[in-house]
Amino acid sequence: QGTLYVVATPIGNLEDLSARAVRVLGSVSLIAAEDTRHTGRLLTHLGINVAMLSLHDHNEKQRLEQLDAYLLAGQSIALVSDAGTPLISDPGFTLVHELRARGRAIVPVPGASALITALSAAGIATDCFTFGGFLPAKPKSRLQALEAIKSREETQVFYESPHRIMHTLAAMAEVLDQRRVVVARELTKTFETFLSGSPAALLAEMHSDPNQARGEFVIMIEGAPTSEPQTALAFSEDALLEALLG
Ligand code: SAM
Repeated sequence: QGTLYVVATPIGNLEDLSARAVRVLGSVSLIAAEDTRHTGRLLTHLGINVAMLSLHDHNEKQRLEQLDAYLLAGQSIALVSDAGTPLISDPGFTLVHELRARGRAIVPVPGASALITALSAAGIATDCFTFGGFLPAKPKSRLQALEAIKSREETQVFYESPHRIMHTLAAMAEVLDQRRVVVARELTKTFETFLSGSPAALLAEMHSDPNQARGEFVIMIEGAPTSEPQTALAFSEDALLEALLG
């Protein structure tokens, strides 16, 4: 039986491709790629010549039997998406879910993912966070989604495209008011930027410098202030010590 390797690729900087990923990509019989032209460019850069097959949201179900037949014939496959880790707001879930249910060997080859990359350098709480993928595109649903997370105490992380970043920040200004937000843009690329402030302040920055609204974004929202009732101390620490020590 062959193995399905789930291989992370860079989110911008090609140096972020791991040595293991390069070895695996060069050793499999087939690469299932979200966009074969996109991945083709990466493979050319690496000097790897392996057959490719497209696997995207619209053909994932059809591809399943075809790819499983490969595995059963003892051939290994690498699954890649256009950027970052497959299955993370990217195709692959149906395939991995089904193949795992069938007991096939599935091995992750980790690497970049925009959400972890963003959190690692944003200076926003990372002990507990929720990743929400992309917010809904429709204004009303987007506002509802923001209302639903407004009182969450853990950091909220979303992906956003350049077409919607300003609309999303405007919606956040409406729902989240002065809550601190960090926007990570163009991670690992030449114009990598971290902006931090209230949604309204970030929106103003993007209005005054439209370059700040270009590229790819990870939006991180600080959690709501903790709602836990603070237990009032009846004694000061010193008084308490004194009382205890007699
Ligand atoms: N699978 C990818 C991952 O592991 O991060 C995510 C794929 S999702 C279709 C694409 C979204 O990821 C973009 O719209 C953006 O929100 C985020 N993203 C990807 N690359 C990025 C980068 N270099 N800088 C900031 N955000 C990025």
